[in-house]
Amino acid sequence: MVGWIAAGVATDDEEVAGLQGVARDALAAKLRGRSPLDDVAHRRAVLVLHHDVHERVRIAEQELHQLAFNRHRLVFDVGRGTTIRLWQIRVPIRALNATFLTHFHSDHIVGIPDLWLSGWLGGPYGQRKTPFNIVGPTGTRELMTNLERAYASDIRIRIADENYPSDGIKINLQEFAKEGVVFENSGVRVTAFTVDHGEHIKPAYGYRIDYDGRAVVISGDTAYVPALADFAKGADVLVHEVMYLPGIEALIKRSRNASRLREHLMAAHTLPEEVGKIAARAGVNTLVLSHFVPGDDPSITDEQWSEGVRKYFKGRIIVGRDLMEI
Ligand SMILES: [Zn+2]
Ligand SMILES: [Zn+2]
Repeated sequence: MVGWIAAGVATDDEEVAGLQGVARDALAAKLRGRSPLDDVAHRRAVLVLHHDVHERVRIAEQELHQLAFNRHRLVFDVGRGTTIRLWQIRVPIRALNATFLTHFHSDHIVGIPDLWLSGWLGGPYGQRKTPFNIVGPTGTRELMTNLERAYASDIRIRIADENYPSDGIKINLQEFAKEGVVFENSGVRVTAFTVDHGEHIKPAYGYRIDYDGRAVVISGDTAYVPALADFAKGADVLVHEVMYLPGIEALIKRSRNASRLREHLMAAHTLPEEVGKIAARAGVNTLVLSHFVPGDDPSITDEQWSEGVRKYFKGRIIVGRDLMEI
């Protein structure tokens, strides 16, 4: 699953060309309580989802949320296809200000080398001349140091052969060990909060992004954590992962390692009813379901994903889909 959130004042430069869209205007207007036509000049928030390279199928194995706040473009997790998806909507990789990691499952980090390295290359999406900024929990340094080691030859060759600026491939890293504010710049504040993704999957964090009185919250991968409602209090948009039990039962029937799989999934993810409780308690305007478990069962309908949520949450529910703009 890949999700992309953008919010900010629209400008006409090439870097935000990918942010244009009626859907964005609609959300911006909704957040401001005005009609889309009133609001063209002062766009505030956009959410674009990218679930996977598969049409319609929602894969739990990819994660990217990009948030652009007033010329700040922040990526949250980097799954498969992130770089391709960004450029599909014409967001140059060089224009990203920072990348944030929630946890170290491969479906959330496997796209990092692509984002980091391709953003430095010479194509229209690349040409980064300043360091790649990454923020993540304990373990981020080890990951990035090892990536630098793995790609040392490529980096050396390209500097010598193609004369790419060495600053553009440097990594500017910030590692944190507990929840709290992890990024603050030009009025954009990002706060990490602890979630519960199962006993073996630590650290695991979600993020709240605040800008100009508005907020977007990303749950990350998590089991039901009632405290998440406090972190999401009053947010405009909550992006929450979701697990559909009948889909899981079907998956388990097909699995050789059924009992362990069931135990893992139940400890690691959140059921629709629980997502509904969180969203209701947090009082968010819009809930976006994302990171679907199972992610490989297209027979599960939008209605099935959302009906359990609706029992508790009366606001707007969006079942995320690839390249969706909200
Ligand atoms: Zn995941
Ligand atoms: Zn995970």
